[in-house]
Amino acid sequence: MESSLRELVILGSGPAGLTAAIYAGRAGLSPVVITGLRSGGRLTIPPLVENFPGFPEGIDGPTLMNRTMEQAKRFGAIFVFANARSADLRSRPFTIVTDEATFHCKALIIATGADTSYLGLPKEKELIGRGISTCATCDGFFFRDKVVFVIGGGDTAMEDAMFLSRYAGKVTVVHRRDQLRASKILQDQALANPKIGFIWDSVVAEFIGDEVLDGVTLRNVKTGEISQHPCDGVFLAIGHIPNTELLRGQLELDEQGYILTRGPTQTNVEGVFAAGDVVDKVYRQAVTAAGSGCMAALDAERWLALHP
Ligand code: NAP
Repeated sequence: MESSLRELVILGSGPAGLTAAIYAGRAGLSPVVITGLRSGGRLTIPPLVENFPGFPEGIDGPTLMNRTMEQAKRFGAIFVFANARSADLRSRPFTIVTDEATFHCKALIIATGADTSYLGLPKEKELIGRGISTCATCDGFFFRDKVVFVIGGGDTAMEDAMFLSRYAGKVTVVHRRDQLRASKILQDQALANPKIGFIWDSVVAEFIGDEVLDGVTLRNVKTGEISQHPCDGVFLAIGHIPNTELLRGQLELDEQGYILTRGPTQTNVEGVFAAGDVVDKVYRQAVTAAGSGCMAALDAERWLALHP
């Protein structure tokens, strides 16, 4: 496989990358998918995905991703279980280097996703899916009539708090300052919602609970006061980090590092397309990522046909 020229390489193996692989495979492009360190992407974390169409009982994230990978293999996608170490997009064919091999390709789809930002506290990762969540849209339903906290003061935190207020008994937003970062309209809506309370100038000092989350300890950053709050759920909404380090200086990115596209998937470099959470900071759903992976594959297929 080393140094051979490929029609299409896809970076990333979440819903966007794998859906792109299915479509590109069916188009006869034999795409090479460089999976990244976590093959299957972030969707391999949730134990139950209930909002992906076609699974009325829900499906666990790893199974959904494994099945999608099998589907892509069936159409000729080739999987390389490695991390891309460098990418050269300055001249065509593009060059992608992994620890194992170097790939040259005529077209490239970037679907490297975005990682959730975590607080970095003990027990945080262990309690994911056991009371701590990073996705209100995915998990809010499980918190009917429960007491939940949302951490963060941006648009995501406000949207999450409002979404959760439809299910939860009580929602409290914890923000580290006394002013929200969120856009005015979302602030106004959240502040006016009777089910949403706010704790200002405060951060999470500790997650309480072993098997499941029992509560949080908060620290007021101005007074140093410590307080304990029993709760059923904590939703982290402190931002995401798009995985674009590899492409910095070669592709147009916004100030947060998300890839900027012209039209749905075309980047500023001809022949390079982008899909999924590495582009999208608003919807961030498996199904929207899959849809944009499909679009990127169709765009790449058309582009390759015009540039044989
Ligand atoms: P964000 O705008 O970066 O906000 C992150 C929030 O988390 C900030 O309030 C920040 O506090 C807080 N935070 C960060 N690190 C923290 C830490 N270690 N401990 C405690 N708090 C911490 O992220 P986002 O809300 O996910 O939004 C990302 C982008 O997507 C934004 O451009 C947003 O406008 C966009 N977005 C748009 C929509 C929409 O238009 N409907 C919906 C969602 C997201 P500080 O304020 O003190 O920095």
